[in-house]
Amino acid sequence: RSRPHDKRVLVIGLGRFGSSLALELVAHGWEVLGMDSNPRLVQAFSESLTHTVVADGTDDEALRQIGAHEFTRAVVAIGTHLEESILAASLLVDMGVPHIWAKATSRRHGRILQQIGAHHVVLPEHDMGERVAHLVSGRMLDYVEIEEDFALGKTRAPREMIGRKLGETKVRTKHGITVVCIKRHGEQFTYATAETIPQKGDVIVVAGKTDDVEKFAEIA
Ligand code: ADP
Repeated sequence: RSRPHDKRVLVIGLGRFGSSLALELVAHGWEVLGMDSNPRLVQAFSESLTHTVVADGTDDEALRQIGAHEFTRAVVAIGTHLEESILAASLLVDMGVPHIWAKATSRRHGRILQQIGAHHVVLPEHDMGERVAHLVSGRMLDYVEIEEDFALGKTRAPREMIGRKLGETKVRTKHGITVVCIKRHGEQFTYATAETIPQKGDVIVVAGKTDDVEKFAEIA
């Protein structure tokens, strides 16, 4: 059913999460139909989103009228209203929308969404909280966990790297991390190679096991 050139997304709920997501999609060339039961919000985004509609995402008839069943991708961005969120997601599942993302505000909420058949459940508050924890506790400038045990960390080049070719510093065997890219002050990121010589103040992005990235940031 998924058409390769279908660049349309239905977003139900235009709160902080839904509207940010919708605007980002539009900025990247996607067609977004934004739906919210609150007319004020719909009005606010009527210029910036491809299409907007005031409708109730828990109303089967309303969803059919806007052609929800014809979308390949839909996002249920209703967070705080648990019942609404679950009902909207289950209607989309019943309609056979092949890719449904749903925002959950708690792990229990996420579990229910998963069980009724939402394909991707996101927990923005939980995820962001965990991510920021790594920034607060260490010296990292940014941190992304790719999977349970693998992460990318952005940090300053530690002293032991300065003025030496990356290939000679043996950071991979010593610290278990790989320097992926590097950025000199005022310049853009470039890929790091064995020949790259970091200078004082350079920012690097390293990849590796979560613990190794964490430990590496301590010495940076
Ligand atoms: P956020 O934290 O992202 O701001 P909220 O849960 O506060 O998320 O906002 C969700 C949005 O979803 C609100 O704008 C609300 O009006 C909308 N919403 C809630 N229930 C429905 C529904 N049944 N149909 C359509 N939109 C809804």
